[in-house]
Amino acid sequence: MSQFVITAPAAPSVAVAGSAERFPVRRVFCVGRNYAAHAREMGSDPSREPPFFFTKPADAVVPASGAVPYPPMTQDLHHEVELVVALGAGGADVPVEEALAMVWGYGVGLDLTRRDLQAAAKDAGRPWDMAKGFDASAPCSPLRPASETGHPAQGRIWLEVNGQVKQQGDLNEMIWPVADVISYLSRFVKLEAGDLIYSGTPSGVGALQPGDRVRGGVDGVGTFELEIGSR
Ligand code: MN
Repeated sequence: MSQFVITAPAAPSVAVAGSAERFPVRRVFCVGRNYAAHAREMGSDPSREPPFFFTKPADAVVPASGAVPYPPMTQDLHHEVELVVALGAGGADVPVEEALAMVWGYGVGLDLTRRDLQAAAKDAGRPWDMAKGFDASAPCSPLRPASETGHPAQGRIWLEVNGQVKQQGDLNEMIWPVADVISYLSRFVKLEAGDLIYSGTPSGVGALQPGDRVRGGVDGVGTFELEIGSR
């Protein structure tokens, strides 16, 4: 049996609602600008752009509960509430009509973003990694299996900060529905069981402050409530 030269890092995982078992996280893919109104608020024309992807480290996934740290190196931390798709099977070049069969279940997540670093990266033509892939940047609710939720194609997706509604949309406003996202992404990489896909955010993104209470949800999938920690 082989040994590691240092203590092996813990395998990232997400809770499963109503179960002691957990979902192991392999990789985290995120879809940019998948709701037309959010694409417009970020300065793009949603009718002309195919989806694009970025990633976060698997251990950026943390529970969307309790305290989530306010990250360093930013003055403009933004919330993006998203439907999270958890793959139970993999594949490359997956046809759209076969894509949903790969989904194990769904959750509700936050694609936390250091918007000031992202804007600077865009201006300089540099990567988004430090804007998107920082520690604890991907809070996620407990997952629910698709056998319970079905494959939600419509339903309210929302986020409140300190009791005020900030983001409110419907899954049916996705420019690229989940099956299309999986199929297209699988042309770039061979997807694997354990991969999570954060499927994009509706409009209304905005800044979070230390101490903010953040609630969010997707109808038929789940809700979360967390507090942003101190700087
Ligand atoms: Mn996002």
